[in-house]
Amino acid sequence: MNNKSYSFQTKLLHNDHKFDKQTGAVSVPIQQASTFHQIDFDQPGKYDYSRSGNPTREALETTIANLEGGARGFAFASGMAAISTSFMLLSQNDHVLISEDVYGGTYRMIHDVLGRFGIEHTFVDMTDLEQVATAIQSNTKVVYIETPSNPLLKITDIQAVVKLAKANECLTFVDNTFMTPLLQRPLELGADIVLHSATKFIAGHSDVVAGLAVVKDETLGEKLAFLQNSFGSILSAHDSWLVLRGIKTLHCRLEQSSISAFRIAHGLSKEPLVEEVYYPGFSYHPGHSTHLYQASGPGAVLSFRLPDEHAVRMFTKHIQIPVYAVSLGAVESILSYPARMSHASMPPLERQKRGITDGLLRLSVGLENADDLLDDFKKAFAEINKHYKAVSEGVQL
Ligand SMILES: *Cc1c(COP(=O)(O)O)cnc(C)c1O
Repeated sequence: MNNKSYSFQTKLLHNDHKFDKQTGAVSVPIQQASTFHQIDFDQPGKYDYSRSGNPTREALETTIANLEGGARGFAFASGMAAISTSFMLLSQNDHVLISEDVYGGTYRMIHDVLGRFGIEHTFVDMTDLEQVATAIQSNTKVVYIETPSNPLLKITDIQAVVKLAKANECLTFVDNTFMTPLLQRPLELGADIVLHSATKFIAGHSDVVAGLAVVKDETLGEKLAFLQNSFGSILSAHDSWLVLRGIKTLHCRLEQSSISAFRIAHGLSKEPLVEEVYYPGFSYHPGHSTHLYQASGPGAVLSFRLPDEHAVRMFTKHIQIPVYAVSLGAVESILSYPARMSHASMPPLERQKRGITDGLLRLSVGLENADDLLDDFKKAFAEINKHYKAVSEGVQL
């Protein structure tokens, strides 16, 4: 279907899979089959075995390719499976340049796994283009960006990094989990592969773990298709259907959550106990103008820093609404503690170096009423203040 003239909001619903061609069903059928009958072994059908291709997974793969503006999409069993499989494009003695405050699991994959296969890496502050230019080596094959980064919401200039990468014949991979193609489309900015943890905003309901990759051109598509089939960490038919269902409401979920995130970021910035709020929607955020240029909104994730671990403990004890969990991008607000959750796999010294302190909390804003969330936080801060006051007055608690 040519849906190019439609707005993104409409494209989410009106694409090649708006109804099933055979039955008219207004929901992609779940093809719960591992294998497909071959009428004639000389002329195999389009599908033969579900690792290599499954119609439900294919519906998701073409949908995400259409939304990101890429040649081909791929669905994997998790975001990490999508990321790891994409790194299999590399060979021994190749080198990867990577954002220093990258997702903890990606850090672990590169640091602890790729190294064993003779793939070198350098972590850089991707927001500093001079550092990026200096760190590119003759054997650098991939520059890996996460913007906004996790959990400090630092902004990397995608086009500028792509330019440096291209001049050195490197591919650029962008983890677009925080933005989704609704807010940011890295392929249009020159990137070669876009990666997603579809577990987060794309599926959006805390009920499925999934990953997506979209490539810009067909040649790279052939290579990734080969790796997806060789490595085999594909998304199941049922989970593909759940992700497809999530995509239909992506626009209204992320828009609403973003509006609330803006209000909550402002509310938190006025709170004396909050030392800093990291949110690309603030005009004084160092990456604000770059972000506005390459994305159409700040998204629904923000981080904020309390004085220390003790304050974090008290805060999380008193809040009622957000779930306190790993993950983000869901209908319910999720509060997480990067030092012990998403970034637990990073050594403490590395964490401190990257500003992921023991007082840092990350909030993914969901679909609750923003005033309810702000009230909830205010009550928790009041309790903490009461505690500090009592301590300073020498009251035994
Ligand atoms: C969660 C996440 C991942 C990993 O995805 P999984 O689906 O958990 O494997 C990668 N990148 C970012 C930015 C994430 O938030």
